[in-house]
Amino acid sequence: MDLIEKSKKYLWLPFTQMKDYDENPLIIESGEGIKVKDIHGKEYYDAFSSVWLNVHGHRKKELNDAIKKQLDQIAHSTLLGMTNVPATELAEKLVEISPKSLTRVFYSDSGAEAMEIALKMAYQYWQNIGKTKKQKFIAIKNGYHGDTIGAVSVGAIDLFHQVYGPLMFESYKIPVPYVYRHPSENAEICRDECLHELEQLLKEKHEEIAALSIESMMQGAGGMILMPEGYLSGVRELCTKYDVLMIVDEVATGFGRTGKMFACEHEGVEPDLMAAGKGITGGYLPVAVTFTTEKIYEAFYDDFQKFKTFFHGHSYTGNQLGCAVALENLRLFERDDLVNQVAEKSEYVKELLEELKELPHVGDIRQLGFMCGIELVLNKETKEPFPFEQRVGYKTSLKMRELGLLTRPMGDVLVFMPPLVSTKEELKEMLKIYKQAILEVPVKEAEYFAGANA
Ligand SMILES: *Cc1c(COP(=O)(O)O)cnc(C)c1O
Repeated sequence: MDLIEKSKKYLWLPFTQMKDYDENPLIIESGEGIKVKDIHGKEYYDAFSSVWLNVHGHRKKELNDAIKKQLDQIAHSTLLGMTNVPATELAEKLVEISPKSLTRVFYSDSGAEAMEIALKMAYQYWQNIGKTKKQKFIAIKNGYHGDTIGAVSVGAIDLFHQVYGPLMFESYKIPVPYVYRHPSENAEICRDECLHELEQLLKEKHEEIAALSIESMMQGAGGMILMPEGYLSGVRELCTKYDVLMIVDEVATGFGRTGKMFACEHEGVEPDLMAAGKGITGGYLPVAVTFTTEKIYEAFYDDFQKFKTFFHGHSYTGNQLGCAVALENLRLFERDDLVNQVAEKSEYVKELLEELKELPHVGDIRQLGFMCGIELVLNKETKEPFPFEQRVGYKTSLKMRELGLLTRPMGDVLVFMPPLVSTKEELKEMLKIYKQAILEVPVKEAEYFAGANA
């Protein structure tokens, strides 16, 4: 049996309708720089950083060497009741680069777990300090925080989450400031309305609310929804005013992705809890982290028999190989002044995206640093979307695959999230492929739609 047949016979892939996979199988064999190569030798730009992870490109020598060096010491020992060398060094480094309110790190293996941990910490914090009525959460509509049940409970993408409804704990959902689809189309009006709605809820319910969870500056999986200026800091002010903890999800936006080390720095926001993952190891190994404040940490610090311990952990928490490569990743960030590089190059990306905006069926383009979404619509004037069943985003991305580029859309929002080291030349080449695919697929699909409805 060849590999493709084996993959169809034995595997079940995440977030994948396997019927789609069977029609369009793909097996990656190697990578170099910002490209990956499949088993037939065809090369692709990794324009979504292998789902938002990759930082320095693939097979980066320094990262490879860091893992090899750590392997010669030890691969893994537990973090339950003890620690290890790289996990400790990394903790110091992480606290150093994070917003200054955040002084403690708790490791896990994925972004969803880091969020799950933040939620449990927030919940138990209020229990530990005797404010036991504070048990509920506020979430943002259209938000995404990962796929474990707790993370899904504060997520709100109907397509992903509806089916699990009965399994989730309830949370209050407030609207996201989605300017492009707001009746006013005005960023400030849209922002102020959303903040007003949040304040109404807080006024009424704050005594029963433990925390609010929010993606930082940009909703990712919900379709790259960029929050208007002043929104995240407005949410911070309201959380403080009503004594509700603010959990910021930086899993997608953290580690330089948006042109700051963490996206909440764009608005000087200091969260009470912050989840990060994805780029932390440069896209190499599964490490994630929940940051918190000394105040929250201290609410758990007591004699054992007081039952204030945080009862949570995973087998591979603080894995040495992962922490070693994360440390080297952060060293490269400094050495290459990478965050400023991204900030600078994202101006260039902006210029290139301006050109795409002129294309037919490109309704809206949203960008923060190297995190970009291109929303395709049937009708640019009315913003009418393509019918869901027509799968225009999916088909456009398949076209790009044919043209030698990998990305994965959210509905009809095309994603452009290249590795942070991408050069101007590479950024230009990649966006050329987007342009070509957009000129071919959505146009054809619109004609088909018109024909079918004639
Ligand atoms: C990817 C993502 C997660 C989940 O991280 P995993 O490592 O896939 O579990 C959580 N929040 C946001 C904003 C993400 O983009």
